[in-house]
Amino acid sequence: MRVAARYFDGRSAAAIPVELALAPDGTVCLTGPVGVRSYRLADIRVSTRLGSVPRELRLPDGGLCEVTDHAALDSLLAAARYRDPADWVHRLEQHWGWALTAVVAVAAILAFAVLVGIPTLARTAAATIPPELDRVLGEQALAALDQMLLRPTTVSPEGKAELRALLAGVAADAPGEWSFRLELRSSHELGANALALPSGIVVVTDQLLEAADNDDQLRAVMAHEVGHVVYRHSLRMILQQSGTALFSLVLLGDASSLSSAVAGLPVMAVTARHSREFEAEADDYALAWMDRHQIPREAWADMLRNLEAAVNTEGWQPGFLASHPRTEDRIGKAGELRR
Ligand SMILES: [Zn+2]
Repeated sequence: MRVAARYFDGRSAAAIPVELALAPDGTVCLTGPVGVRSYRLADIRVSTRLGSVPRELRLPDGGLCEVTDHAALDSLLAAARYRDPADWVHRLEQHWGWALTAVVAVAAILAFAVLVGIPTLARTAAATIPPELDRVLGEQALAALDQMLLRPTTVSPEGKAELRALLAGVAADAPGEWSFRLELRSSHELGANALALPSGIVVVTDQLLEAADNDDQLRAVMAHEVGHVVYRHSLRMILQQSGTALFSLVLLGDASSLSSAVAGLPVMAVTARHSREFEAEADDYALAWMDRHQIPREAWADMLRNLEAAVNTEGWQPGFLASHPRTEDRIGKAGELRR
């Protein structure tokens, strides 16, 4: 097996045609006008195969061989049991399977960054953001909601006072420096619904009040919303969405998503559907609070059933439920954990 090569002696630019061959003792033998020379393969630095680029063999005496016959060189190297340390690049080029695997791997890494990395960053970032930002976002979100979806409540002033006292009682032992405030509204669009806005504004709809049978059920809903506030879910959701937008700006050069994310912060605080993880955290907070205050967990399960029934009969937007884990699962959790 002979491989044609162009030999450069390292001193002049002249290319000398030579032949390379594998000697029986495993050395590489160079034959041509320069005579016969032999080298140990271990002393030769062979460049990695990259497409059809000529490969270079750097010889220990300063000479260099250039080979364009890739197939012949490959079989010589294979016969010499040569292993290219950087061969995987070539394999990737040669095999679609590998290339596809690489693409899938990159996609998986990106997905991991978006699904896990950004939420983790958002949680860390939320902890460093002063509560003042929550207050501004909360007020803006309420103003946006009032424009878009909310109407004045029909609850009497006495009823309002009672419900505010109810929330104050639920929020009394909430950790952190939140100023909880109950906002009652009517909303056909949101239906029987409750929302926690940043900084501690809890919005409860008249429709939800109608769906509740007693104060304990309302306490359960309020405790769930207090959980959202305590864990700063709205702010974290905003940061996550901005983070995803920032990520796509850096990777894809798509600035539009970031600018719209910044412009839409208040609206996002309202419309951002809480993730199942956030809902589970808020549920856990509510159930723990109810346990501490000897409020039977049935109140929570019954309230969830009432909300589902309200959605089914009235055809309301199932806002409170849609973004939440399946009602049956949540009711099940309320039952299981009661010990
Ligand atoms: Zn929730």
